[in-house]
Amino acid sequence: MSTKLNTMIFVLATAFFVLSVIVSASMIIPVNDNAKENANAPENSPVIGTNWDLERVDFIHYVKPETPAKPVKTDVCYKLMGVKWSSLPVNYVINPTNPQGLTESFVTSAIATSAETWDVSTSKELFNNFYLVNYSAKYGVQNFQNAIAFDDYPNNDVIAVTSVWFTRVGKQIVEFDQLYNTRFVWGDSTSVINQTVMDLQNIGTHELGHSVGLSDIYSTACSAVTMHGYSGYGETQKRTLEQPDITGLQKMYGV
Ligand SMILES: [Zn+2]
Repeated sequence: MSTKLNTMIFVLATAFFVLSVIVSASMIIPVNDNAKENANAPENSPVIGTNWDLERVDFIHYVKPETPAKPVKTDVCYKLMGVKWSSLPVNYVINPTNPQGLTESFVTSAIATSAETWDVSTSKELFNNFYLVNYSAKYGVQNFQNAIAFDDYPNNDVIAVTSVWFTRVGKQIVEFDQLYNTRFVWGDSTSVINQTVMDLQNIGTHELGHSVGLSDIYSTACSAVTMHGYSGYGETQKRTLEQPDITGLQKMYGV
């Protein structure tokens, strides 16, 4: 072979190698558009040990901004993550520890009611009716335990975070964890005593939507749906599902 041909083969092989690295790198980008939010996540957010078989996506629920996003014309007010549970029902563990004196029964009842709200909208038994209470369960540990806990998240605009782990192959959800930011005052906004709290059942219903495979919706035309990406103190409208939330759920788990 001539030197010229050898050089050409070398150049082609190098180009192919570089191209395949680029292609494989692009395949590990999260499947939803929250990647940019992940990039904004504080550096001290939990670091997960490398597990090459699993992919993780974080949904960060923000306080409604002063100037909301421009209205996006859309007919569809739900968005699927493209991953779902294959083994049902989904079990979960609640750590009721909170700095605000909310009782265990208040916290567990708000979360269980949120889970049941999704459950009744599909014929599948989606969430186990029997949850566990574990005072040491923590958000952000990849251990195949679906943990729901309060903790400090170092951003005053972040109400809650749901992390979802799923298999790269098969796109099966294998775990979710939820964090409810203790920088907010949590409670029951339908209570006559104090309506200006962050309603746990309201946010819980939204976050559990992520746990079963629904993404956030940011269009202002869809601001009434449970999966709308912003909330504020006193809001309770996410406690009940709207038709787009139900449609999205049923696309994954059946009517
Ligand atoms: Zn969300």
